[in-house]
Amino acid sequence: MMPDSRKIRLILDLRKCGVTDARVLSAMERVPRETFTPKAFRDHAYENVALPIGYEQTLSQTVVVGQMTQALKLGPRMKVLEIGTGSGYQAAVLSMMCRRVYSVERHRPLLDGATERFRELDINNITTQCGDGTLGWPEQAPFERIIITAAAIDIPVSLVQQLAVGGLMVVPIEDGKQQQLVRVERTEEGAETTDLGSVRFVPLMEGLAAE
Ligand code: SAH
Repeated sequence: MMPDSRKIRLILDLRKCGVTDARVLSAMERVPRETFTPKAFRDHAYENVALPIGYEQTLSQTVVVGQMTQALKLGPRMKVLEIGTGSGYQAAVLSMMCRRVYSVERHRPLLDGATERFRELDINNITTQCGDGTLGWPEQAPFERIIITAAAIDIPVSLVQQLAVGGLMVVPIEDGKQQQLVRVERTEEGAETTDLGSVRFVPLMEGLAAE
């Protein structure tokens, strides 16, 4: 298939699964997913599958990236925190739709690969840090949006505290054998949560990865 027909397929997959926000579709059409895909899997770059990126981690399925991005209801002036940079693909999609993305990854080699790709694609509004994302990025808080791309056992309280009032966080929560995608809205009093359906993510870990 030629790249263009692969992108048409991507958009059809996204629409079929409820991703209809024109800004999300346009961002995902513009970010070349093959740049974030290991060479051995480039032929599958636009398919709705999770792809291995090393260190037992995966680049999330296209539809899941679309659904999470849509659930964030991003605006062009927003400051967004991502936990789990991985390949950098999700951060690149976010970067097309907001003012600045702050992204934290605990595996140094994955982070180095992602920042190299941002440079290659001339994406200049992503700031990264190697660290434990469960701690967030207090120096840059508050954030209007937070996205966690690994499954947490519970809604991370330290991250809710780094959300601006009225801000949204999207996070997969491990609940026994299942995972639910949850949207948390920070309110004056605390937080309100909405279930967005079941998903499958690698676990959110604590601490830095061993080198
Ligand atoms: N958003 C990524 C997919 C990430 S897979 C992409 O678009 O490719 C989940 C990522 O979360 C992995 O890279 C994993 O190393 C990272 N991760 C898991 N726990 C973490 C933590 N506590 N802090 C930072 N990164 C974490």
